[in-house]
Amino acid sequence: MKVLVINCGSSSLKYQLIDTDNDTVLAKGLCERIGIDGSNFEYKTDDGKKISRLTEMKDHKDAVSVVISALTDADTGVVRSLDEVDAVGHRVVHGGEHFKKAVVVDDEVIKAIEDVSDLAPLHNPGAITGIRACRDLMPSLPHVAVFDTAFHQTMEQEAYLYAIPYEYYEKYKIRRYGFHGTSHEYVSDRTAKILGRDKTQLKTIVCHLGNGASISAVKNGKCVDTSMGLTPLEGLIMGTRSGDIDPAVITYIMEKENLTGKEVIDILNKKSGVLGMTGISSDFRDILKAVNEGNERAKMTLKAYSLRVAKYIGAYAAAMNGVDAISFTAGIGENNSVVRKMICEHLTFLGTRIDDEKNESGSDERIISKEGPGPVILVVPTNEELSIAMQTVELVK
Ligand code: ADP
Repeated sequence: MKVLVINCGSSSLKYQLIDTDNDTVLAKGLCERIGIDGSNFEYKTDDGKKISRLTEMKDHKDAVSVVISALTDADTGVVRSLDEVDAVGHRVVHGGEHFKKAVVVDDEVIKAIEDVSDLAPLHNPGAITGIRACRDLMPSLPHVAVFDTAFHQTMEQEAYLYAIPYEYYEKYKIRRYGFHGTSHEYVSDRTAKILGRDKTQLKTIVCHLGNGASISAVKNGKCVDTSMGLTPLEGLIMGTRSGDIDPAVITYIMEKENLTGKEVIDILNKKSGVLGMTGISSDFRDILKAVNEGNERAKMTLKAYSLRVAKYIGAYAAAMNGVDAISFTAGIGENNSVVRKMICEHLTFLGTRIDDEKNESGSDERIISKEGPGPVILVVPTNEELSIAMQTVELVK
């Protein structure tokens, strides 16, 4: 089947047309600055050429029209008409407690996504606008919503409740939701397949280390704990996000710097993490370069980053009473052998040893630990778009 995967932000739309019969990407592209001066459309043709052109897009409906024209273009398109497309899969960041798995979109589903938008005001409104535009322009196709939070809905209360007055959970649904669920699910499933094990009898820790980073404990195919919380700010140290801090730091900075709570949260989201600690960059390639040039703060930051990941791995091994596999994924997890090694140096107490040669041999799917006791360590490239396409097919076939 051919599935159009759509990922909409407030002013952007990313798409891929995926053939799920052979897991190939037939076309991909990006609309940027939708509704803003200078909107731009960028896509790859099937011979791999990247084309970028300024194209006026006053709203998401314009953007979807531009995408449809590119897909069906007589010269550079990949399908003759939309009749060749079987379904559309939409990425939605927050499904709250309502959505425990992907669903076929109807008016009620849109209303329910709107109802939880309070929890993701920067993300869900863009997705809803995108779904509406796609349904208007492709009314005969089934549309499926796939949620970043859904995979984590199997967590028990003891894992997702914060130790704050229970009434805040009852009144406002304040709790841990977790994000990157599509990636955690895809990577934990792949891990079981690579190891030739039944996923319902495997304890896996997935480390999704990208600009945003989160870690999850997946026991017997189900998520039992994850590091992101009510919002994607909690947990690991990230590119620009602080991850875990003492909440009292917020009011302390507010008083000292004469800032509002919202301004401090903005600093914790956008100016913290490895960017804030090094003062150099949020990009790990820049940080590694600085380390190689002898920058002490960059060295300390990498140590702090690795220590935080290792502490979560230890905690999740305890939460599952054991761990069979630890899988690294996303930009840093897949490509940065230095960080992987630094994290794994904390884990020798589990018996496991990283194999330097395998660790350093590229970014493909593979085992990177030595044979012997302890959990197997793997690199498993994530593919959120393929996972969205596969979940869409499951629902519409
Ligand atoms: P996101 O999707 O959350 O924006 P990514 O998963 O693309 O983020 O991860 C971005 C991070 O991955 C950056 O810190 C970058 O340094 C790192 N990264 C991406 N590609 C490479 C690479 N080829 N080599 C080393 N690091 C890389």
